[in-house]
Amino acid sequence: MYKDVSLTEHLQKYFGFDRFKGKQEAAIKNVLEGKNTFVLMPTGGGKSLIYQLPALLMDGTAIIISPLIALMKNQVDAIRGFGTEDNIAHFLNSSLSKAAVHQVKEDVTNGKTKLLYVAPESLTKEENIEFLNKIKISLFAIDEAHCISEWGHDFRPEYRRIRPIVNEIGGDAPIVALTATATAKVQHDIKKNLGIINAKLFKESFNRANLYYEVKPKVKTETQIIRFISENTGKSGIIYCLSRKKVEELAATLQVNNIKALPYHAGMDAATRSGNQDKFLMEEVDVIVATIAFGMGIDKPDVRFVIHYDIPKSLEGYYQETGRAGRDGGEGKCVTFYSYKDIQKLEKFMHGKPVAEQEIGRQLLLDTVSYAESALCRRIILLHYFGEKYQTENCGNCDNCLNPKEQLDATNEIVIGLNAILEVNEKYKAEHITDILTGKNTAAIKSFKHNELKHFGIGHEHDEKYWNAVFRQSMIAGLISKDIENYGLLKMTKKGHEFLAKPKTFMLVRNHDYEEDIESQSGAPAGAISGDPELFAMLKDLRKRNAKKLNLPPFVLFQDPSLADMSIQYPISLEELQKIQGVGPGKAKRYGKSFIELIKTYVDENEIERPQDLVVKSVANKSKLKVFIIQSIDRKISFEDIANAKGLEVKDVISEVEAIVHSGTKLNIDYYIDDVLDEDHQEDIFEYFREAEDDSISSAIEELGEDEYSEEDIRLIRVKFFSDLGN
Ligand code: ADP
Ligand code: MG
Ligand code: ZN
Repeated sequence: MYKDVSLTEHLQKYFGFDRFKGKQEAAIKNVLEGKNTFVLMPTGGGKSLIYQLPALLMDGTAIIISPLIALMKNQVDAIRGFGTEDNIAHFLNSSLSKAAVHQVKEDVTNGKTKLLYVAPESLTKEENIEFLNKIKISLFAIDEAHCISEWGHDFRPEYRRIRPIVNEIGGDAPIVALTATATAKVQHDIKKNLGIINAKLFKESFNRANLYYEVKPKVKTETQIIRFISENTGKSGIIYCLSRKKVEELAATLQVNNIKALPYHAGMDAATRSGNQDKFLMEEVDVIVATIAFGMGIDKPDVRFVIHYDIPKSLEGYYQETGRAGRDGGEGKCVTFYSYKDIQKLEKFMHGKPVAEQEIGRQLLLDTVSYAESALCRRIILLHYFGEKYQTENCGNCDNCLNPKEQLDATNEIVIGLNAILEVNEKYKAEHITDILTGKNTAAIKSFKHNELKHFGIGHEHDEKYWNAVFRQSMIAGLISKDIENYGLLKMTKKGHEFLAKPKTFMLVRNHDYEEDIESQSGAPAGAISGDPELFAMLKDLRKRNAKKLNLPPFVLFQDPSLADMSIQYPISLEELQKIQGVGPGKAKRYGKSFIELIKTYVDENEIERPQDLVVKSVANKSKLKVFIIQSIDRKISFEDIANAKGLEVKDVISEVEAIVHSGTKLNIDYYIDDVLDEDHQEDIFEYFREAEDDSISSAIEELGEDEYSEEDIRLIRVKFFSDLGN
């Protein structure tokens, strides 16, 4: 009892706090008893104190390993700020001068320094090891310990070399590992690598009750974001994009739409970057558009929304980034835009990396996909990912809980799924077992002879998404788990065996189908960006009649997304029509008149208020590359030369040209087409498009024959076709 009182006294004396937070005190006692300690608490939980206070009370110097030089300096300043002698804490890293290093070593040797912060790469230096060998060490603290694991979102190879050095210099000093993100897999890696399997765990809940989670189909994302921000004017927000290029583009788009936004990414020069960060912190701008380089160590308490323009690479990253919203406990909206295409892009980026790394990356992505596509409570899934069971059925603060999907009895399918896991002796991952159930003859299936299994093809009436939901929800119900050593292999739990022995009704929530949503929304607007379905139908009808009169396929006049946009924006003049997606001045003039007349009558008759404030201005077309291409084509430069000048391939140039023409700009590329295709071939393709059902390239190749016509030929003529007739 006496001891407890004195600990609180020490807390007050050194840090000025009245009482411990959460599990701080229990963890500190464990350290003081000289035992290895594992601390899992969310950011802001007060982890530092768990090694700082023992360090001040114990004999010798504590070695604190921390990954970032900048964070290290902050930490030392913070400790000194509590009013102790300056030399009580020091750091040792590559930023110090020789003289400074000398001073640090002297203070440590004289016993004045109780906390020594060391970067992992400094720890492994021979001269430092020699020095540390001579001093008494009270404890080792490994901050941001998830850096040890390749399965963490922030892997640092140097972190793997900590244990051997501790063995050399540590004597019997206890190890304290601390992190704010750790899945079961990462936890296991940390304990194993540091050799502290026996460490006592001190864990606090990762639930952030005030955060609202939502995943939306990635369609008309800019419009959705601009609308969202205008509904939240004056509030601070972060928008994360995967690429620096997207960061720049989106920031520019927001700016021309009168939103106070600035970009932030590691490719910018340091002064501009930190200037932009300061403007965000000082609230001179509302929105920062950033890569994930933004946020580490940034503590703005009143960020009201975090938008993911692109899906993050892992759920850990997602949790970290969304975690920057609502740190003061107030509103925090977390909206993510999801399209499976982005996942494929991320997979492509992984090509060329070491195989093991690819495998890890792919598994992490799969967990992200499951999260995004699931119609279960987001909070339940997220917390389950961190090994936590969220007790309530409906959190009331995520899209899936606010709009629950229908549930269906899937007891039989769960039984089938579990039995399939058993049939392959619990040695395969969910995707492989899904392939077995749906009867896919993949190379892997054949090589294991799994097409001869009892379960092969037994579940073919359901698709992959369905079986994905079966496994994901069995996991959340605790019937199965993912193996830790061989991450991803599905294992039965005791509960799973009990279920098989005596199945109980199991209600399954079907997954979302965002791809379907994306298609239906770019055709007829629905959902978040609700257009006017009646007007859309009328516009389609008018397009059909006009096309017939002109003897052209309807898509030449306006494509579906343009009509959809019209049914949102209600343009009633040619100027307004030009601002519609995919419509330029040429197209507006040539085909627009009857459309704006129809819309005007419709607006008048139905007394519609037009959303003139929400015309999203685009800057994408003004990209330097596009301007360069337009100018080069005016000067009749060959596509090969254009490609060479920009380090591209011809097919990339064609893609850019397509985008330019698609956004409504007229381009004359006859000079180039005449160069590469004779007249007959040109005519054949052109005539094909006149009669075609749609403008798809694959249908064109099928119809025209790929021996005679290359994809590039067809695409070139399609550009000409749109440019001549459409714009
Ligand atoms: P973490 O490393 O878990 O993200 P920190 O150790 O940086 O968290 O602490 C977060 C904040 O909480 C700091 O400002 C710290 O001073 C404060 N803090 C820590 N312990 C207490 C306590 N017992 N009472 C009040 N504030 C505390
Ligand atoms: Mg910390
Ligand atoms: Zn929920």
